[in-house]
Amino acid sequence: MNAELFGLATSAAAYELRDFLKRSGVPFKWTELHSDEQAQRLAGVTGLSDERLPVCRLLQGSLLYHPSVHDLACALDWFRSPKLSTYDLVIYGAGPAGLSAAVYAASEGLRTLVIERSAVGGQAASSSRIENYLGFPDGISGWELASRARQQAQRLGAEIIVSDEGVENEEDVLGVTWLASGTRLVSKATICATGVDYTRLDLPEEAKFLNHGLFYGAGASEASRCTGEVVVIGGGNSAGQAALNFADDVQKVTMLVRGAALRDTLSEYLVERIRQSSNIEVRTHSVVSQLRGANSLEAIIYTSTLTGESKSLQTNWAFVCIGGTPRTSWTSPKSVLTDRAGYILTGPDISDDYLPSRYWQKGRRPLFMETSRPGLFAAGDVRHNSIKRCATAVGDGATAVSMVHQFLATDRS
Ligand code: NDP
Repeated sequence: MNAELFGLATSAAAYELRDFLKRSGVPFKWTELHSDEQAQRLAGVTGLSDERLPVCRLLQGSLLYHPSVHDLACALDWFRSPKLSTYDLVIYGAGPAGLSAAVYAASEGLRTLVIERSAVGGQAASSSRIENYLGFPDGISGWELASRARQQAQRLGAEIIVSDEGVENEEDVLGVTWLASGTRLVSKATICATGVDYTRLDLPEEAKFLNHGLFYGAGASEASRCTGEVVVIGGGNSAGQAALNFADDVQKVTMLVRGAALRDTLSEYLVERIRQSSNIEVRTHSVVSQLRGANSLEAIIYTSTLTGESKSLQTNWAFVCIGGTPRTSWTSPKSVLTDRAGYILTGPDISDDYLPSRYWQKGRRPLFMETSRPGLFAAGDVRHNSIKRCATAVGDGATAVSMVHQFLATDRS
């Protein structure tokens, strides 16, 4: 046990900390506080209404009062300033693509830095079990895979900084990026492996219930806390994995699926396991139309796309897994071309007509996986037309590094 967390059951701040610790593979104990006496005795605060909650106690002794995820990352010594002023390669995003790129780059002698804004492992780290990743016949949890990859990258010499992110490229100077922390980073080459953000339901009540009963992602840290009926919204592999994970802990799981059948978006092995599960009910043609509750989520109203009829489902736990939206807000639209949905265009997908002439010498075309900005590569889910699989992201990371070598060789010659 490396950390202990104390807080209220309905605390959104506590959820964010649990989610971060779980996805980061840090063993922790969560204690829900139910009385002032308990809060005083266990968390050392005056009572349940003390604003210093949630409290986090780390194994090494530090006590954090109402910490943000950033505070926690600092206390774990995962957030710090880069050691060097210039790197051969800076990788943004530590999901499977970014970590794979870090392993290959560092092992091939490149001075490599990885910047991750949240937890190492990306969305894959919230997957309770990845069953089709080569070499793990019994499956492996996303956070274990991420934790192993992190150790491997660091052992080979890559530096990893958590809880910071690239926010802006310097428009006229290639290889210069500003981080949220205010650091100016210089690198000879860059790989963008920032993945995707969870797509939102876009309902008016969403903000009110966010992390108060409505959660984005597979909720790996929450399964053991859930009681009664859990609702999983979405019909893709993330939703399927989440439903199976919750089914082990709760009485009933209901999947609300917009499409006509799970088979359309879900891998066959997951469809089969869901079908065999006695406590997962799948409601197809169902779109969530309203969220209800006084302070936290109490019910979901969903509407049939066939009949237009609306029904209510009593639940305190809803997990939304409806795919992703590319995380490219940091890119400059003037220099990094994306498709309409925001995925980054690379190599053969970029037409000569759109290449900014101030960056590109005549006759030079972007390498495969190179973006419209020379020396900036994209790998993994954030890349236009990428195949959204863990193994593909890992392959993307390795391929991007070989492109980086080509770029550095040409750039130096
Ligand atoms: P997907 O894009 O595969 O699936 C998204 C699901 O959400 C679809 O069922 C989609 O329905 C539904 N959806 C989208 N928008 C809405 C909305 N507004 N309201 C209701 N439903 C909506 O996303 P995933 O996150 O599941 O997976 C991403 C990728 O990662 C996929 O390629 C997947 O295969 C992979 N993955 C693989 C895993 C594995 O174990 N092999 C585990 C997890 C992910 P519709 O079809 O109607 O648009």
